[in-house]
Amino acid sequence: MFDKILIANRGEIALRVIRAAREMGIKTVAVHSTADSDAMHVRMADESVCIGPPPSPQSYLSVPAIISACEITGAQAIHPGYGFLSENAEFVQIVEDHGITFIGPTAEHIRIMGDKITAKETMKALGVPCVPGSDGGVPDLATARKIGEEFGYPVIIKATAGGGGRGMKVAQNANEMESAFMTARAEGKAAFGNDEVYIEKYLTTPRHIEIQVFGDGKGKAVHLGERDCSLQRRHQKVFEEAPGPAITPEERAKIGKTCADAVAKINYIGAGTIEFLYENGEFYFIEMNTRLQVEHPVTEGIFGVDLVREQILVAAGEDMSFGQDNLEINGHAIEVRINAEKLPNFSPCPGKISAYHAPGGLGVRMDSALYDGYAIPPYYDSLIAKLIVQGRDRAEALARLERALGELIVDGIDTTVPLFHALLQEPDIHSGNYNIHWLERWLAEHMAD
Ligand code: ADP
Repeated sequence: MFDKILIANRGEIALRVIRAAREMGIKTVAVHSTADSDAMHVRMADESVCIGPPPSPQSYLSVPAIISACEITGAQAIHPGYGFLSENAEFVQIVEDHGITFIGPTAEHIRIMGDKITAKETMKALGVPCVPGSDGGVPDLATARKIGEEFGYPVIIKATAGGGGRGMKVAQNANEMESAFMTARAEGKAAFGNDEVYIEKYLTTPRHIEIQVFGDGKGKAVHLGERDCSLQRRHQKVFEEAPGPAITPEERAKIGKTCADAVAKINYIGAGTIEFLYENGEFYFIEMNTRLQVEHPVTEGIFGVDLVREQILVAAGEDMSFGQDNLEINGHAIEVRINAEKLPNFSPCPGKISAYHAPGGLGVRMDSALYDGYAIPPYYDSLIAKLIVQGRDRAEALARLERALGELIVDGIDTTVPLFHALLQEPDIHSGNYNIHWLERWLAEHMAD
């Protein structure tokens, strides 16, 4: 096992990894930009290294700075968290070339899944059901039009290198094809340096269901059920739960086994998430994330396992501490993402926290790097806290969520907490009757500026 690991991240996810490492008796090294000298992850780690100025390309994304920090402190492995360098195959290769262990999948697996066209082809070959659409890339507008006719509108044009909800455009009909095709290409080029796009049938009422998988890198893999992350704004998740209110135990067992078998076949190592759209009882693969997800705590809650601990175990060459037979669902868990944003426009709202009080009690987990007097810097993601609640069933989890949100105090800045108070008044949230478009429609009705 490692003696010391470095965490190439900040905020709540850096704390999450530090906590797992500490329980395993592993020392931790935090890295930080000059804007984060007073950040909680720096205070909580055993050691810290300043790796550059505030903009992330010069600090949290600076590969030479991170490798140097590893060498100076003698850290044997790097945990990337999510975002930043977590899905950067080149980074993984450089880390390994320096004799440092990357806590995550291989560069090769990251490369395959990072290109959405290759990912889809790979998954299809492994027996995973996919959204009907173009066979690979679509080179020009004429071909795009032909595919639109063949599959029927609406269709979605997606950049193969896309992510974070960027590089996707819907064409509702043939008239919209030209602008959607050109925009998706331009966004792919501008944001990811790659203008290749592909086309999928646009599903009109799906849920976003994702399957958590975990492999040991030696041909053994398990699944940890699904998360329903359908409540999204601009294709970004804001509320996630497990198990999915619309998924039956039979469906879970079947799609879970398909996913576990697929990743076992490619000797996948570590945590991964296979994302699907789910409509009329069918699952359609959209992408795989080769890292820990923001919403992993809901899965940890219902299965009672520590996914970061398992990531560290398999990275060190040890066995996973569970097999499929020891994984049993217990109760229901919900996560809400609390952002430093001002409603109704969700505009970023960094600033100084004048008072902070985290909720507690049975079934409440608060993953956050906030503290009294902390000044949220303007340079990074606006996620400031994840509130995760668990109950014996969904109704208890929802009641607990309302209770916990009521206890939370974050003064000095605006947050998205009022959004969750409002959502908890909605019958559809209580019945679990929502799909990926529900929140956008609700926002248009209730939060129009
Ligand atoms: P990203 O990598 O940017 O997150 P995804 O491919 O995972 O992109 O898609 C993100 C979201 O976009 C999905 O959760 C869903 O809301 C929507 N989406 C993607 N593909 C389709 C599709 N074929 N039909 C309908 N909605 C889609």
